[in-house]
Amino acid sequence: MKEIALVWYRFNLRTIDCAPLDAAVRSGLPVVPFYCFDTRYHSTLHTDWPRMGQFRAKFLMESVQDLRNTLRALGSDLYVVKGFTETEIQKLQKNSKIIAIYYPKYYTEDEVEIEQKVADLGIKMIGFDDHSLIAPKDLPFSIENSPKVFTDFRKKVEKNLKIKPEYPKPSSINTPDEYIEKTELPTLSDLGISQNLLFDSRSAVPFVGGEHEAWQRLIHYFWNTKKLSVYKETRNGLIGTDYSSKFSVYLAHGCISARSIFWQIKKYEESVETNESTYWLFFELLWRDFFFFTAMKLKGNFFKVPRNYTPKKTKIFEKWRQGETHEPFVNANMKELLYTGFMSNRGRQNVASYLVHNLKQDWYLGAMWFESQLIDYDVCSNYGNWTYVAGIGNDPRNRVFNVKRQAEMYDPDGSYQNLWLG
Ligand SMILES: Cc1cc2nc3c(=O)[nH]c(=O)nc-3n(C[C@H](O)[C@H](O)[C@H](O)COP(=O)(O)OP(=O)(O)OC[C@H]3O[C@@H](n4cnc5c(N)ncnc54)[C@H](O)[C@@H]3O)c2cc1C
Repeated sequence: MKEIALVWYRFNLRTIDCAPLDAAVRSGLPVVPFYCFDTRYHSTLHTDWPRMGQFRAKFLMESVQDLRNTLRALGSDLYVVKGFTETEIQKLQKNSKIIAIYYPKYYTEDEVEIEQKVADLGIKMIGFDDHSLIAPKDLPFSIENSPKVFTDFRKKVEKNLKIKPEYPKPSSINTPDEYIEKTELPTLSDLGISQNLLFDSRSAVPFVGGEHEAWQRLIHYFWNTKKLSVYKETRNGLIGTDYSSKFSVYLAHGCISARSIFWQIKKYEESVETNESTYWLFFELLWRDFFFFTAMKLKGNFFKVPRNYTPKKTKIFEKWRQGETHEPFVNANMKELLYTGFMSNRGRQNVASYLVHNLKQDWYLGAMWFESQLIDYDVCSNYGNWTYVAGIGNDPRNRVFNVKRQAEMYDPDGSYQNLWLG
């Protein structure tokens, strides 16, 4: 049987700065890049909504297709299947001897469980920390001693900052013929998406998924328009594509790495300018790392509720979900999420605070609705931010937003509310 190295793609759909791909190619073995639409992510959660709704599923599909095109151009392919990852890998073992599985590591419950099931196949597992900006090993403290408060975390890591260089994109990949052009991508309805996708021209993220598009977005935001230079002033905006980077949709699927963005910021600072805005984008990437490491530290406790907790839906919650509360600013944001799969950071903070502190509803339902709906859903950033706003995270404080005041400050002429409610 042919010996191969399997590259198990997960939330890292890229070829540039992709540690598992780089290591597998350097192993000298024939390489088979592999992606499984794992059934566990395409089920319903504890609700009647799909765990992955239409917007994210479409973006994911585009990202997988783009990765496949890139790998084909390198002489390889992406072997795409649907089912349970461990079962699908087991099927491959019938035709090939998998010497090792190269894969990115995640530390949240479901991801660890899937990894364990794959490890139980008894194949050598070679895992890489490829999701955060700072590698866990490069933190100036142990995970157990990771600060509970963001500012403490930030100050400590900034004092002793170590960011790895990017892993190069391979110039070619040696993949056995029997793994080239052998699989088809599933359709959205195969993934349980029955709704019709209607493109909303008001969308703040009218983007297509994939590594290629991620870099186009970066080139646009940094180099062509120099929006990075004014990021700090515009980041609380609500309308349009350019008030913030919108990198989250690409980071969530791993179409670009946080490291690549960091090194592009450094390049920009050297060749264009260094100012508060260029620093601030890095600062925001540290928030992403903060929630990633918090999840790594707290393991199951990160979610604050038992694994199979089923919150009860109420009419009040349903009105919030549909954007039909008594607060127009909340409604506008919830409509944007419903129709496009995106909402600004300002909006997310307000609607989350309103659900928990004003409507007194279960925060977990809100987090689950976000999980279904957001294109950029990321387990650590979503559940971390929800517990933070709800004041039950590991930095518990009263974080109540005065929604009326926020609307006056951030939507003074009501144009955002008119856009979605008018
Ligand atoms: C209740 C709630 C739920 C959220 N759920 C998610 C989620 O599922 N996925 C997600 O990526 N972000 C989430 N966020 C964080 C934030 O709202 C989004 O990252 C941001 O709006 C994405 O737009 P952007 O890429 O233009 O951000 P920018 O303002 O351009 O920021 C650049 C990058 O920094 C990171 N970042 C910025 N703010 C945060 C933050 N508060 N927490 C973590 N990372 C941050 C993101 O990776 C983002 O792409 C949530 C925030 C709240 C309040």
